[in-house]
Amino acid sequence: MENLLVMGKSGDRINVKVKNIVIGEKEKVIISGPCSVEDESTMDKIASSLKDKGVHMLRGGAFKPRTSPYSFQGLKFEGLKILKNIGHKYDMPIVSEVMDPRDLDECCKYIDMIQIGSRNMYNYTLLKELGKIKKPVLLKRGMSATISEWLYAAEYIMSAGNSNVVLCERGIRTFENYTRNTLDLNSVAVIKDKYRIPIIVDPSHALGLREYVPSMSLASIAAGADGLIIESHIDPQKAVSDGRQTISVEKIGDIAYKIKKINEIL
Ligand code: PEP
Ligand code: MN
Repeated sequence: MENLLVMGKSGDRINVKVKNIVIGEKEKVIISGPCSVEDESTMDKIASSLKDKGVHMLRGGAFKPRTSPYSFQGLKFEGLKILKNIGHKYDMPIVSEVMDPRDLDECCKYIDMIQIGSRNMYNYTLLKELGKIKKPVLLKRGMSATISEWLYAAEYIMSAGNSNVVLCERGIRTFENYTRNTLDLNSVAVIKDKYRIPIIVDPSHALGLREYVPSMSLASIAAGADGLIIESHIDPQKAVSDGRQTISVEKIGDIAYKIKKINEIL
């Protein structure tokens, strides 16, 4: 790779500030919430419990990239309004996905950190638009993207003027099909060693099975990740999307505690 903005000498690290939360410093950042925003009362209960357990930021999809066009597509702006209200109530910055460059300006009124989903990592039109705004971006790895392709996607955003980029490893497609994807923690080691932008891990989409989310959360932190984004719900079985990989909000406290312990020896 030539001399890129994503590179840098050590000490030249980029920390990304999302309101009062900083990603890339010593403290590991936990983002959690449901796959999809469902309704205000559910979101309120989830956020209240997560805040209590030390979660820093709230996630919730309002524009959902579903494999089937007949699956729930998200509450769109209605969902973003709910998320913004609840984020404000609990003083938690919010992360949500944007898929269409035409929605970007309007979405920026609600969202604190724009998530670019795995299916859109190669959407260069969208990436260039993100460069024009200053909002922090959570750039998920394309499900079949190499580390270099993913870094070039980050470079698209940064070279267009926005260096507030955080990478998110969410698992890649391999021959293995016991789990939904394969969590490539190699990428975390490589990014932390050679590149200057923060990287967090999404064990929920990487595993697809909630029972393995706690252990792989800890493994991600041990590998050097700057934080985690975990799907959680007050009643995972009833979640409208990705229920099988969603953990109960109750489990987050234990993960948060163990992460702190691991972080002490890093
Ligand atoms: C999500 O975060 O709910 C999501 C759709 O993730 P990904 O783009 O990684 O599949
Ligand atoms: Mn999901």
